[in-house]
Parts: sequence; structure tokens; C-alpha cells
Amino acid sequence: MATILAVDVGGTQIRVAAYQNGSAEPTNINKVATRGEGSVSDRILATIRKTWPIAGNVDKIVIALPGPLDPAQGIIFSAPNLPEWKNYAIGPEIEQVFGVRTLIGNDANLAALGEWKYGSGIGHNDLAYFTVSTGIGSGIISGGNLIVGRYGLAGEIGHILLEPNGPPCSCGQRGHVESFCSGLSIVKFAKQQISHGRKSSLANLADFSAKDLSQAAQQGDALSREAVERAGRYLGYAMVSVVHTFNPSILIFGGGVSQNGDLLFDPIRETLQDQVMDPTYIKDLIITSASLGDNAGLMGAHALGLLPDQ
Ligand SMILES: [Zn+2]
Repeated sequence: MATILAVDVGGTQIRVAAYQNGSAEPTNINKVATRGEGSVSDRILATIRKTWPIAGNVDKIVIALPGPLDPAQGIIFSAPNLPEWKNYAIGPEIEQVFGVRTLIGNDANLAALGEWKYGSGIGHNDLAYFTVSTGIGSGIISGGNLIVGRYGLAGEIGHILLEPNGPPCSCGQRGHVESFCSGLSIVKFAKQQISHGRKSSLANLADFSAKDLSQAAQQGDALSREAVERAGRYLGYAMVSVVHTFNPSILIFGGGVSQNGDLLFDPIRETLQDQVMDPTYIKDLIITSASLGDNAGLMGAHALGLLPDQ
């Protein structure tokens, strides 16, 4: 069985894990801050060297990266947290340094793979995964295949268009799902309501995060509950398109906002019930939380490494 080095490059942390002989338990894992001495790619190279298994070869290196990228060419087009990388050929660079086949994948796509192979999606070959946090990432498995599309850009459910003249989205366009449902968008909605005179326990804070808002919702704050339910309703609109397009058997939600649980999931379920064109789409459809947490990207990178090369 193969030995895989999985790399997860986030905005704050680079993590590298060695998975030996097909085992899903890493034998070695190292973390380093994304920013610091040297370039980001130098820091990735150093962390890979540090994690390299003492005995034995590495069969593949697989890197989970934020932002749109082309997995076939190993090129990352852009990433909000890594502004120095524009059309950057990170895959070929790493492959050349170590002489080991190197694959790259979008972090949300790889998290979808991880949840499918090791997490909440085990046994489901038609699966949609979403990470709802500051932004919204997503990955689709259809008929047992990760959908990547022509240039590797498929599966961006967070940027489904809901309202052409809606709020600004982080991608620069307007009215996309993310502009209604991300952690940032939920906070923005609550702040607007407070500025219009709505009462809320959050109004006493100088500033507040999506996590603060979730806590307030849990404690019964009406505005916070409304803000989460509203996000759930808009996510539900997006899920109507997802079930009509892919007819999945499970929808898996990860990321901080998903920790609102049924407060977020119930409006998704209700919207689906109201809006699908045939009830068969939601017959036995599971809506659930992700189970791999921060390790989803690494485990997904491992899972991709174990798949036959395409
Ligand atoms: Zn967008």
C-alpha cells in the first residue's frame, strides 16, 4: 500500500502529515505558520522535509489548497489568503524538488473526499459537502466521482446566483449564496438590523463574530436566531438546486456556522420540502454535520493519493 504525504495549506497554518502503507492514521504530523521567514513555498518545502518518513519511499504528495486551481496542471489561479500566488505552478515545483508525483486539490473538494472515505459520508456515492464558515466551500461526489469540471473549477455551490442585485459576494460578484449565508454575511445582517434599532444582546458588544452570534442564538437572542435561520433558508434555496442537479443521498455541513445544528438545518429541510419539484428528491435524504473537523483536508488529500491516477 502507498505512502502519502498530505499537505494542507491554510491562510494561517501549513500542516503536513505522513500516511504510511495505506493507514488512515498519520505516523507523523507537523504544523507551521503560513506566514514567517521565507516564502510560503519555502515553508511548505521545509515542512515536507521535516515530515518525510525516515524509512521508505513516498509514493505521492497531495496538497490541499484554498481558492480556484487546476488539478491537472498543478496550478493555483488565485487565493484570497495567499495574494503572492497568481497562476502559481506549485504542483510542478514540489514534484521537481522531491522527484515524487505531486497532486493538488481544492481544500473543500478534498474535504468532501475525506468525509466520503472516512467521515459522515461513508457508504454514500452521491454526496454534497459544504464548509460554511467565513466563506463557503463545497465539493460534490457524484456516482463515486469527485466532480472537478474542465479546468478544475466545478462544485462552487457557494457561488450559485440567488439574486442578481443581491449583496456583494467575496468573489466580487453579487447575490451569490455566500453573500447571504457565510459567517461574515450573517454577522453583517445582524449588524444592519441592530443599526435599524433591533434589540439584541449583541448590541452591547463593541464588535462581534459569527461565533458570538451563534452563542447568543443558543441563549435565545431573537435577532441572532433569526439571522441563523435566514442563512439556513438561503442555504436551502441553494440545496434545491443541488438536489435537482445531483440527486445526492446526503448533504454534509462542516465549518463554524454549521455548529448551529438544527437551528440552521431545520430551515434547510423546510425550504427543500417547499421547493423541490418532486418529493422523491428528499426521500431518505440525510442532512448532517461533518465529522472530521480540521483534519478533513489532510484526510481528503490522503484519500485522493490512494485513488488510482487519472
Ligand atoms: Zn461569489
